[in-house]
Amino acid sequence: MRIGFIGLGQMGHAIAGNLLKAGHDLTVWNRSPDKAGELVSAGARLAGSPAEAAQGEVVMTMLADDRAVEEVVYGTGGILEAPALHVSHSTISVALAERLAGDQGRRAGFVSAPVFGRPDAAAAARLFVVAAGEAPMVERCLPLFEAIGQRVFRVGTQPSAANLVKIGGNFMIMAAIEAMAEAMTLVEAGGVGRRDMLEVLTGTLFDAPVYKVYGGILAEDRFRPAGFAAPLGLKDMNLVDAAANASRVPMPVLGVVRDHLRATIARNGADIDWAGIALAVRQAAGRS
Ligand code: NAP
Repeated sequence: MRIGFIGLGQMGHAIAGNLLKAGHDLTVWNRSPDKAGELVSAGARLAGSPAEAAQGEVVMTMLADDRAVEEVVYGTGGILEAPALHVSHSTISVALAERLAGDQGRRAGFVSAPVFGRPDAAAAARLFVVAAGEAPMVERCLPLFEAIGQRVFRVGTQPSAANLVKIGGNFMIMAAIEAMAEAMTLVEAGGVGRRDMLEVLTGTLFDAPVYKVYGGILAEDRFRPAGFAAPLGLKDMNLVDAAANASRVPMPVLGVVRDHLRATIARNGADIDWAGIALAVRQAAGRS
């Protein structure tokens, strides 16, 4: 397929590389064009604007946050009036996904397809893609999703449903990290190693990727370089808060993890992984 890819950060660069490997005709655009070098050497074209990257059948975006997506869609040289079907992979608000679905412009349509998986999973084409949109549009995109992920979930025809599932999932990851960090701090205070505890739990009741992946990061303090930077995690918890407000759903644990993210960024800087909230948990226990 003739596709455009916008946003060559940690996730986008890896995803675009897999689309190229799968044989698609790829045009890329990134705010900082230097990040396109490797992909251009591998056969991609570099567009001069987002709109230029959106002249084919599909344009995929993988950008930091709502503001970045708004600039790329609605800003000068944006994709609003370009003909391609817009597939949004970024973790953005439910409200922006609704706006993008409503503002069709000349576009062929809008599909929301946020992903689960860190940059290493993106590089290995092992992402989980959560897709929502009108059925024929989602079906057109399936070969693209299969090129970047290990499984595609379809969660309905309203695009924002996928964003709701995505932010709900990120809240659960954050809560799992918080629970592991508290339990690891507790056992360590009693003289038991984090790694020993993790081996017992992931070998028994907690045999799930989230505990294995993040448990390993916590056990070994692998917080830098960040696979998922803490400010992006904080952005996601704010998206959860907005959705919870809109639906009047109390989420007390959200307040705890969001404060720990704020404390971690304030004390350790913006370049730390979101799993770094373990440092805030340890500090509170006098074990920094
Ligand atoms: P990243 O490495 O920080 O990349 C962010 C991308 O957004 C870059 O291409 C950046 O361009 C672009 N950008 C930022 N602000 C912009 C603006 N105002 N206008 C235009 N472009 C702008 O982030 P990432 O880790 O790839 O994450 C991308 C998205 O995927 C986020 O929504 C994140 O929540 C989500 N996500 C991340 C992970 C993960 O583990 N990392 C997993 C699942 C989902 P420049 O290169 O010019 O800065």
